Amino acid sequence: MGRADRRGGGILTAPVRRCAGCGERAPQRDLLRLALVEGRAVFDRDRRLGGRGAYVHPDPACLERASRRGGFARAFRARVTSAPQALDSD
Ligand SMILES: [Zn+2]
Repeated sequence: MGRADRRGGGILTAPVRRCAGCGERAPQRDLLRLALVEGRAVFDRDRRLGGRGAYVHPDPACLERASRRGGFARAFRARVTSAPQALDSD
């Protein structure tokens, strides 16, 4: 299942999100989505989890900054009791 390439349409704009780690804006598709489940930030790889999302670059430095400096709490606007420590963890 390929994703439709809409370039050339000229109307649709790719959604942009802010990385919870470094704070830079990036196209949503270039960032990893996390969702808050019972106070824990977890990767939402299939984008199935609802609610407010947080986004980070697929970069260990951004993940660490987001979890250690409250970036996730700011993104979720909620207390976050734990967050992934590695990009390949849950
Ligand atoms: Zn980042």
